[in-house]
Amino acid sequence: MADYPNNILKTLQKYWGHNSFRPLQQDIILSILQGNDTLAILPTGGGKSICFQLPALANNSFALVISPLIALMKDQVDNLLSKNIKAAALYSGINKHAQESILHQAVNHELSFLYISPERLASPLFVSWLKNMDIAYIAVDEAHCISQWGYDFRPEYLRINDARSILNPIPIIALTGSATPQVKEDIMKQLGFRPPQCNVFFASFFRPNLSYNVARIDNKYHHLASLVKQHKGSGIIYTRSRFRTVELAQLLVAQHISSDYYHAGIPPDIRHKKQSDWINNSIRVMVCTNAFGMGIDKPDVRFVIHFEPPDSIEAYYQEAGRAGRDGQLSQCMLFYTPKDLEDEYQKIQSRFPSNQLMNRIYQAICNFFGIPDGSGKGVSYPFNMKEFASTYDLPLIDVHNTISLLQLSGYIHYAELGKNESTLKILLTENELYRLQVKDEELNTLFLTILRSRGGYFDHYTPIEELKIARLLQITESKVKTLLKKYSHAGYVDYIPKTHEPIITLIDPRYSEINPDRTLIQFLQKNAEDRYKAMVGFVQNNTVCRSQVISHYFGEQLTNNCGVCDVCKCNTSGSLSISSAELTIHAVKEALSNGPHSLEDLMEIFSTSDKVILQEVLEWLSQNQHIVRQNGKWIWITQ
Ligand code: ADP
Ligand code: MG
Repeated sequence: MADYPNNILKTLQKYWGHNSFRPLQQDIILSILQGNDTLAILPTGGGKSICFQLPALANNSFALVISPLIALMKDQVDNLLSKNIKAAALYSGINKHAQESILHQAVNHELSFLYISPERLASPLFVSWLKNMDIAYIAVDEAHCISQWGYDFRPEYLRINDARSILNPIPIIALTGSATPQVKEDIMKQLGFRPPQCNVFFASFFRPNLSYNVARIDNKYHHLASLVKQHKGSGIIYTRSRFRTVELAQLLVAQHISSDYYHAGIPPDIRHKKQSDWINNSIRVMVCTNAFGMGIDKPDVRFVIHFEPPDSIEAYYQEAGRAGRDGQLSQCMLFYTPKDLEDEYQKIQSRFPSNQLMNRIYQAICNFFGIPDGSGKGVSYPFNMKEFASTYDLPLIDVHNTISLLQLSGYIHYAELGKNESTLKILLTENELYRLQVKDEELNTLFLTILRSRGGYFDHYTPIEELKIARLLQITESKVKTLLKKYSHAGYVDYIPKTHEPIITLIDPRYSEINPDRTLIQFLQKNAEDRYKAMVGFVQNNTVCRSQVISHYFGEQLTNNCGVCDVCKCNTSGSLSISSAELTIHAVKEALSNGPHSLEDLMEIFSTSDKVILQEVLEWLSQNQHIVRQNGKWIWITQ
């Protein structure tokens, strides 16, 4: 044990090339190595992956990792493989052969990590395999998904403790980027933490170099470009609609601001290009939905603007927190109008469709797949949501929301495959293949090319790029696919073509009518409303330091005010700095450009709560000769 600190630092250097640990990483790793149940709450970007990956590498053992999203799993597995670490992922959508091959590797000590999605644990077959694995610990990533109080509850997570109790006593490590005190307690309870053999590590949520600013601005479009022009360096603008990302990026470009847009509806390769353009500063400002930013670690983001408020403080903290990773002072600015607040509330309501609508969409899905009453149990169908919605003339958003609730209520399983590549495994031995190659020229050239393109096809399911092979052979991509399908049919290979469509699986035979239990749904709805109320509280607050509000929400008590948020700046000594009130300055300018207004008029326009800032802003503007007062009304006099 005494050697551990030395040993784990060496492991960090060997596999990641980092020279030191981030705060708490070493304590968390030691806690696991000592066999404790461990909960690690570190903000996004805090380096949680290393915390649960390093222990297995340090003592050459094997860990089972549970992760909610296939895309996340694949990213991490690819990342580990690129470091020559043996890792694999199991998720719905890979076929039986591939699954078995991975399970064999896990049982035969050929892996350091097996990533699974939590619904695997529902399969008795899988659990029987688990019993034969030599698991050193279970890691639960995004552990807030286990809590009904969390912002991303996933019922399948509740199976983790059942599975764990079947195995020998093994420690568990849970990690999350944000947990309120309630969620924290719930995670430990649901995962069966074994006091006193457990540790909780909680990093501070305070980011002293982030200046949080909130402003009610009624004509946001009008102000956006000039606000961006006042800030140097790289920035992100978050908006809630895909359409608006395009619109705002165009608006900025028209004002000669280098910018682009990003949302989940753009094809992956283009998205990737946009992202790297922004990371290497060929693009200064990215206008995006919340699809942007996961896994991005750009240090020098100088500002994050929210064009509308997000639906929770968790989401806001995460998005705004992409600014200032390098520790330099950075601005986080949030715009809102009363209408935004109302619209978002409505959106939350629509996330919880009625039983009547749920039944209607459930029946339509079954019809869409041609499943007769009383059958269809356990069968998986690729699901094209857009085609489905237009076939039955249903709003896409209703379909989307209903599918999450149908999944939550246990009627269907829904898996988004995310980016998925074709994979291939050769089922023959080298000799068997050779004998075929001698006889068949077409087969020969194809396999020569495939085997030269990369190794591993005899041992594992290995990615194959059909287009690349086609180019080398000077034939079409579809010809390559046809050949691979033919050889797959003949049993020479197992070829799994890529699919972008999500998969729906019916859990029970089709019901003639469904009547979901509303208890859980109502509970989740109330929690979503409460989270949103906290966000509205943050937005409307003008008396408490904003960093204090955020930290308090996450269960932390800050001793001092941040001194850099709009509230703090407004409360200090009456001297106004431009940055603290620039949002209000814009608002005043906009109001006065419509004609002269008195202080009282402006108070009415901005609501009385803005009074203190407003007086200071007016004073500052008049001292700096932007406005003058005539007959008790203020007039804007500069450009
Ligand atoms: P989280 O899951 O907490 O959001 P990640 O595990 O994805 O964070 O890590 C975020 C980034 O921080 C990664 O690029 C990772 O390589 C980097 N990182 C983690 N630990 C360290 C360290 N000790 N030194 C330098 N970089 C680190
Ligand atoms: Mg992570």
